[in-house]
Amino acid sequence: MPSKAIHNPKTTEYEFLGPIGASLMMTTLPTLVYLLHLGCQPEGCPTVSLIEQLLNPQQLVQFFSADNIVSLFDLQASIAFLGYLIYLILAWYLIPGRWVEGTQLRNGRKLKYKENGFRSMLLTLCIIGCTILIKGHEPLLFIFDHFIGLMSCSIIVSFLVAIYVYLISFQEEKLLALGGNSGNIIYDFMIGRELNPRIGNFDIKYFVELRPGITGWIIINIAMAAKQYHELGYVTLGMILVITFQGWYCIDSVYNEPAVLTTMDITTDGFGWMLSFGNITWLAFLYPLQARYLALRPNHLSWMEIVIILSLQAIGYGIFRGANNEKNAFRNNANDPKLKYLKYMTTESGSKLIISSWWGKARHINYLGDWIMAWAWCLPCGFDDIFPYFYVIYFAVLLVHRELRDEEKCKKKYKKDWDRYCNIVRYKIIPGK
Ligand code: NDP
Repeated sequence: MPSKAIHNPKTTEYEFLGPIGASLMMTTLPTLVYLLHLGCQPEGCPTVSLIEQLLNPQQLVQFFSADNIVSLFDLQASIAFLGYLIYLILAWYLIPGRWVEGTQLRNGRKLKYKENGFRSMLLTLCIIGCTILIKGHEPLLFIFDHFIGLMSCSIIVSFLVAIYVYLISFQEEKLLALGGNSGNIIYDFMIGRELNPRIGNFDIKYFVELRPGITGWIIINIAMAAKQYHELGYVTLGMILVITFQGWYCIDSVYNEPAVLTTMDITTDGFGWMLSFGNITWLAFLYPLQARYLALRPNHLSWMEIVIILSLQAIGYGIFRGANNEKNAFRNNANDPKLKYLKYMTTESGSKLIISSWWGKARHINYLGDWIMAWAWCLPCGFDDIFPYFYVIYFAVLLVHRELRDEEKCKKKYKKDWDRYCNIVRYKIIPGK
């Protein structure tokens, strides 16, 4: 594909409240992951005390005292976390995989990505399985015991990766994200300046999107089940449901690895602190919140509760996977005879938009499926604490905000055609709302 000259227009509109919002995100989100974990202990997870800690300047000062900060770091955990990252990079490099093309970039080029995430995940799961078979569950307790140290190292790594990609984005011939070239250091650093930072053919954004966070999430969940087993002598059904559902979600996302190539993170957003921290720390350490909660505070489910939870998971997954696969297949080859059943509209941009099946029901029906699944992941924790429900609340905010961002992007791309599309597919996330 011949490449056009790179044109990197200045970003004139801020998202996330601009530099102030960016500064707030980069300070409060790392603090929040600590508070959410430090605040949840076997005696309970008192939300009130968490909010008090957040709002009380004295408690915050105490939280940030030198002794406290030093206690968050742990050499053994740091070595383990860095070893884990090196293992994942080597797995990417050494495990054979198909090279797939991404969507067409602004400069007319299409990048190639190595698809071996599923194999890498299988290798990781084999290593964990063999460890348990040979040495029992005890080696996994390291993760529970060193949780905060591992998380601290992940935060440092996420900042270092963000600094690196920010600095290399100033090299010549870099294709910048349309939203990440404002000229404000704080904002561009947070939102991501370069669209596809790479070292040779190693795509940093693609790797970070699907490897450290997703694999870390599964490993931590299994470690939390090991902790529960260590304490109780068995694993509760609630824990089994949580780690099965979330494990399924993780394995599904690497199994359908090329689907990530048509998502907003890859096609539109630059790679900066937001995606680096989001995947390396937030996803890996916050998404296992329910499993960690159940390791500390086991909950027993009734059959009725199990049926409700299983139904929510099945419905949510059906919508989520059905819609994402449909769009991904359509974006890869709209003329595929298997997609003949889809109705679509043509646009002046050259891209077609599906207007039937899942994508005829709502403009982000895939978000609805994802959110329904989120309930199935939280409900096994019962109702003693609101803590594990942090995920459904935060995820609703994330998806509503993401929907607004995507609408904005599509309005710019499709102009009048987008209004025409919105008249045909009237609902945003929930059909009928
Ligand atoms: P989508 O997969 O919904 O992709 C949006 C893009 O799809 C649009 O920008 C547009 O791009 C294209 N599109 C929109 N409507 C149509 C249509 N009718 N026909 C064809 N193409 C269309 O967005 P996301 O990247 O936000 O989400 C992907 C998945 O990841 C979702 O299921 C979401 O729930 C999940 N997710 C999960 C998160 C988590 O933390 N668990 C976080 C974020 C997302 P174009 O036309 O330019 O191709």
